[in-house]
Amino acid sequence: MDNKFVYSFHEGSKEMKSLLGGKGANLAEMTNIGLPVPPGFTITTKACINFYDEGKTLWPSLIDEIKLHLAEVEKTLNKRFSDEENPLLVSVRSGAVFSMPGMMDTILNLGLNDKAVKGLAKSTGNERFAYDSYRRFIQMFSDVAMEIPKVRFESLLEEMKENKGVHNDTDLDSEDLKALVEMYKKVYFEEKHEEFPQDPMKQLELAIKAVFESWNNPRAMIYRKLNDIPHDLGTAVNVQSMVFGNMGDKSGTGVAFTRNPADGENKLFGEFLINAQGEDVVAGIRTPNEISELKDIMPEVYSQFVDATKKLEHHYKDMQDIEFTIENERLFLLQTRAGKRTAHAAINVAVDLVDENLISKEEAIMRIEPNQLDQLLHPMFEPKALADAQIIAKGLPASPGAASGKIYFHAEDVVAAKARGEKSILVRQETSPEDIEGMVAAEGILTARGGMTSHAAVVARGMGKCCVAGCSEIRVDEASKVIKVKNEIIKEGEFISLDGSAGTVYRGEIIKIQPELSGNFEKFMTWVDEFRRLKVRTNADTPKDAAQAVVFGAEGIGLCRTEHMFFDEKRIPAVRRMIVSTTLEERKKALDELLPMQRKDFYEIYEAMGERPVTVRLLDPPLHEFLPHGDEDIKSLAESMNIAFEDLKDRIEDLAEFNPMLGHRGCRLAVTYPEIYRMQTRAIIEAALDIKKSGMESILPEIMIPLIGDVVELKYVKKEIEEEIQLVFEERNDKVNYLIGTMIEVPRAAITADEIATEAEFFSFGTNDLTQMGYGFSRDDAGKFLSDYESKGIFEKSPFEVLDQKGIGKLMEIAVDLGKKTRANIKLGICGEHGGEPSSVEFCHRLGLDYVSCSPYRVPIARLAAAQAVIKESVNVTRDK
Ligand code: ADP
Ligand code: MG
Ligand code: MG
Repeated sequence: MDNKFVYSFHEGSKEMKSLLGGKGANLAEMTNIGLPVPPGFTITTKACINFYDEGKTLWPSLIDEIKLHLAEVEKTLNKRFSDEENPLLVSVRSGAVFSMPGMMDTILNLGLNDKAVKGLAKSTGNERFAYDSYRRFIQMFSDVAMEIPKVRFESLLEEMKENKGVHNDTDLDSEDLKALVEMYKKVYFEEKHEEFPQDPMKQLELAIKAVFESWNNPRAMIYRKLNDIPHDLGTAVNVQSMVFGNMGDKSGTGVAFTRNPADGENKLFGEFLINAQGEDVVAGIRTPNEISELKDIMPEVYSQFVDATKKLEHHYKDMQDIEFTIENERLFLLQTRAGKRTAHAAINVAVDLVDENLISKEEAIMRIEPNQLDQLLHPMFEPKALADAQIIAKGLPASPGAASGKIYFHAEDVVAAKARGEKSILVRQETSPEDIEGMVAAEGILTARGGMTSHAAVVARGMGKCCVAGCSEIRVDEASKVIKVKNEIIKEGEFISLDGSAGTVYRGEIIKIQPELSGNFEKFMTWVDEFRRLKVRTNADTPKDAAQAVVFGAEGIGLCRTEHMFFDEKRIPAVRRMIVSTTLEERKKALDELLPMQRKDFYEIYEAMGERPVTVRLLDPPLHEFLPHGDEDIKSLAESMNIAFEDLKDRIEDLAEFNPMLGHRGCRLAVTYPEIYRMQTRAIIEAALDIKKSGMESILPEIMIPLIGDVVELKYVKKEIEEEIQLVFEERNDKVNYLIGTMIEVPRAAITADEIATEAEFFSFGTNDLTQMGYGFSRDDAGKFLSDYESKGIFEKSPFEVLDQKGIGKLMEIAVDLGKKTRANIKLGICGEHGGEPSSVEFCHRLGLDYVSCSPYRVPIARLAAAQAVIKESVNVTRDK
């Protein structure tokens, strides 16, 4: 139905996530599979979008629809709004399509007013509870819906406790709370110049509006940006009848994961608090109990809960994150969703679910976000260094990983430290959504309060960031910026280290090493390799990088940049002499010095890669990048070359260009100085002959010429190179197979690829330059303005990060078609940064490239993305974010 905007929980299902939001769809699903869910209804995301179209108002027919559903809930529960005997109270809960923890605000106990509070006291026989709920409601409603600062209420509460000489909220009696309610209402009047709304329907409308508006609050916007969630989805609103976890010792509230979200262990993991409501557990107000302790306190409820968690996991075929409340020993489920987990846990859970026959390998592969793998590849503390390190405290192992950094106590200080290039640890009493940017910038997070499901823990795990939470042995003084622990003081700017898997805090910095990639990770990656068609190579310039990439599964080198070898301290003088030479003779002399070094590099790289193919790119950057710029350096170079300082300085100035990226670089250098490419080619081929002699018969170097725009350039350079190769063959009286190909990175080359392919045996798309030249965005300058494009919504992502499939991709598509027309079996690859970015990898798969090439650490990511591309084509599995 087109104008149906409200769905009762009976009417929805888990498939209706985009309309009902994640929370609403799952509340409906749980209701319909017979789990105990307090009745309620969902106002759709479509209504949220309509709300913005209507100038942020709730239109009359929507209000009628809401009233109709409310009447249904009243009837089911035999309770009524404002009733003096048995009042209906509801929660108003936001629920976006993708879960956004802590980003949107929930209001509890709505419907309380001066009348209903008496009704609540009567129906529960607990006046204290009723007034406690009322004061909580006024505060929450004022804060969330009316933007009245929380502190206005909190300070009154503190004052009241002080006057009574008590410590805990629970020590206040019903008379105190009654008085507090009156004070709270006065605050409301002062702030809003009208009475606290007594009409529940008015309360409800204001609350719904506030949830809709919170879709666009800054925290929510940042979270969406960080997680690539579109801004135009809108949020649903769930209105649900209240159950009370704060009714006494037989009540409580909690959250649990069906498996361990840090390592995936198949064991219930969670926490609860007796006599508490709503956010108390998540907010880390008191330190909660472990879920297993519920067994001793309420065995019946515990076993009921365990059954429900099993049912949910089987039903959803995934690890669930469940919120529940117990009201007088009656269990209610309030939320379920796919649990956020670390990459380590994600792999273990996916592999276990396949082994338990709950999901297929394809589904398991689709469950892992390729970028998440990054977390598994990064270094851990070196065991010996760790054993020697000084432990200062133990907290909860909230999110695994190893982090060292200088401590800072405020998010903005961490952000500033990052800008200075420092590694830092964010230390807080407890975190809140305002700290998000600091959490992103930090190496790790340490909090003194809060449990395993506190804000810090949940968000850190989602980000794959190391976190130690609830470290109660330390005292965090945010104002004077120190940690106090036992007799020690650690000041802002001093180093600590965190082990997020053990929850340990160390003093100082600890060195790190590579983790082992075995067990379930290995098993999972074998499945990945069974599915993918695209090969994955690596961009590597050194034997060390090459070896690392092989460990990560690289099947070859797609780009070996020879210039990186030139920057070596021992070589740069020869490189510089080569550049500033004014005669061919001088230049050749310098090149002769470089030849054995380059030959050794290539030999070692071939060795590291074994039988795998290696593409070497000949010199690409503008020459003056290698030259000294300070007078001191110029002087010493002049001396070593035995020429006058002034002459050298002039020569260097001659070489400067206005627009070096479009200047004398790439194949253009070889047009002027063919001897440079000849030397490099000689090194490539001689090294190949050497390694062939040592037994590696299959060696097949691929020589790649950069920055070709016109086939005539390629013809010229190729002729020079081939002459040199023939020379080497004759000198050595031996041969190897080789390929000569080109980068496709100048738009003209892409659209004349049929001509280029007459000379080139392979193409490798240099999508960094292709994007630069295709868009006309200078790569070195675009950073300054592309962020504005992103913040103004003109670009979702910088085209240097995520390949622009429409335009730059079109150039690639044209080049592939034309290239194949000339040379049906032409080898095709990509070596720009995009080769390791999942959506771009998928595009390369569809384009029919043979391989993608990316930095070593992205190789597993590209392998997974390539497998997902195949699975997406064959079956329609959707990824649950
Ligand atoms: P979030 O999206 O931030 O998790 P929720 O809407 O899930 O917010 O609400 C937070 C908590 O409030 C829930 O976990 C639950 O404990 C409590 N809550 C929400 N609605 C109800 C309700 N109808 N009855 C009792 N508690 C509720
Ligand atoms: Mg929740
Ligand atoms: Mg380039």
